[in-house]
Amino acid sequence: MKSVRFFGLCCLALLIGLALANQRRSARAANVSSPQSGSNFVLVAHGGAGNYNHMTPAMLDSRRDTMVKAIQSGYAVLSRGGSSLDAVEATIRIMEDSGLFDAGRGAYYDRDGVPELDAAIMDGHTLAAGSVASVRHIANPIHLARLVMEKTPHVMLVGDGAERFAQSQGIELVSPFYFYNQHLWEMYERAKSGEEKKKTSELLKREEHGTVGVVALDQAGNLAAGTSTGGTELKLPGRVGDSPIIGAGTYANNQSCAVSGTGVGEFYMRNIVAADICERVRYLHVSLEQAADDVVMKELVDQKGEGGVIALDPHGNVATTFNTDGMMNGTVRVDGKIIVKGWSKSAEPMTFPASN
Ligand code: ASP
Repeated sequence: MKSVRFFGLCCLALLIGLALANQRRSARAANVSSPQSGSNFVLVAHGGAGNYNHMTPAMLDSRRDTMVKAIQSGYAVLSRGGSSLDAVEATIRIMEDSGLFDAGRGAYYDRDGVPELDAAIMDGHTLAAGSVASVRHIANPIHLARLVMEKTPHVMLVGDGAERFAQSQGIELVSPFYFYNQHLWEMYERAKSGEEKKKTSELLKREEHGTVGVVALDQAGNLAAGTSTGGTELKLPGRVGDSPIIGAGTYANNQSCAVSGTGVGEFYMRNIVAADICERVRYLHVSLEQAADDVVMKELVDQKGEGGVIALDPHGNVATTFNTDGMMNGTVRVDGKIIVKGWSKSAEPMTFPASN
């Protein structure tokens, strides 16, 4: 009788053990496949596609350091459970304020020697979006774009109207001197004096770069994307590029992906690059990397449209694809390692800590 009871107890222990092991296995599987696992956050930033070869090592270092600092602030938001929208805005603001990128304080001048700034932000969860274009007195266009998204029924405000809305929200307009920078002015004068010799097609070739963009996935599984720029060098006053156009230079949708583009905006607008990448993921079920590659390395290359994208899907997959010499970009994940690369095709990635 005793041995029968002992045998019964052993069988019971074995069954409980098997059930527990099974439960642990399925929990692990759920973690791998589910983007809403509660800890899978990612942030990717870019600092513009183009040719970095003419840049001095000091300039390259300052850009890299600023990008790292910016990503650290985005990481801080995501690691404490903040939203991808907040992380995108925080990261872009630091790059706008640095004066080192073609965005915010460092925006390139248009043909009249004045910066005109564009920016957009999009929430992949609700598809809410906000953007501003051709603003001349706004220090942080990404913040204004966020206010357009949250405080108006509209998606896009431009020029004077956008600036009046900014004032109504308590944003102080800055004077054009806020954007003055010796290096940019010299660059403008050089470009202007060489301009007459160039054909229109050459003017659309990419020498310079520095638009900034960020895509992020937060712990709640929500994607967001944002882009901020001064546009292309020597653009006509009033010209608007792809960055503030939802679906062209900026797009986010939890069903597919988040994208921020950088390059010659006219091509990105004609090819609705950001939305095209996400729709390929959504409807053709191709991988994010494949979709980015097909659009940037085939469609754009066939049309001689220079540029690149950063893209992120709800599973945390990342694509950083560019058909130019370089596109500085940095990625951070839950492990707290910021990996920065892309200032040339052969650049060795560098790793930095996400918290200091
Ligand atoms: N895409 C931006 C524009 O055309 C420029 C850039 O990315 O550098 O306005």
